Amino acid sequence: MADCIFCAIAKGEIPSTKVYEDQHVLAFRDINPMAPKHVVIIPKRHVSGLNEWEGLAAEEQLALLRACTVVAKEEGITESGYRVVSNCGPDAGQTVPHLHFHVLGGGKLSVNLA
Ligand code: AMP
Ligand code: ZN
Repeated sequence: MADCIFCAIAKGEIPSTKVYEDQHVLAFRDINPMAPKHVVIIPKRHVSGLNEWEGLAAEEQLALLRACTVVAKEEGITESGYRVVSNCGPDAGQTVPHLHFHVLGGGKLSVNLA
C-alpha cells in the first residue's frame, strides 16, 4: 500500500534491523523500544490491523503467530517470559495502520495492560 511505512520496510525501501523473515512475515527491531527486547512482526502483505485478520490467508495467519514464538526463542526470552501485543485502532493507540505484533521482553514488564 502506498505511503505505508511498514510496506516500505517489507520492500526494503526503508531500512530496518531484521530479526526474522520468511515467505509471509518480516520481524525487525522497534525503532523506539519499550522493553530491552522489542521486536515488531508484520505480514508482508498489507492489512490495516487485527480488524482485517480475516483478509489474510490461513498460512499468513499461522506464519505471524509462529514468528512471534520463533523471535522469542531467538531473543532468548522464552524462559524469562515475554508479551505479545497488537494495538488495534485509536483507543489502543495504534500508530501504524499495517497489522503488527509487538514481542516485548528481556526484563520485568509492567503489569498494566490498559
Ligand atoms: P503501534 O503504536 O502499536 O502502531 O506500533 C507501531 C510501532 O512501530 C511503534 O512501536 C514504533 O516505534 C514502531 N516504528 C515506527 N516506525 C518504525 C521504523 N521505521 N522502524 C522500526 N519501528 C518503527
Ligand atoms: Zn502496509
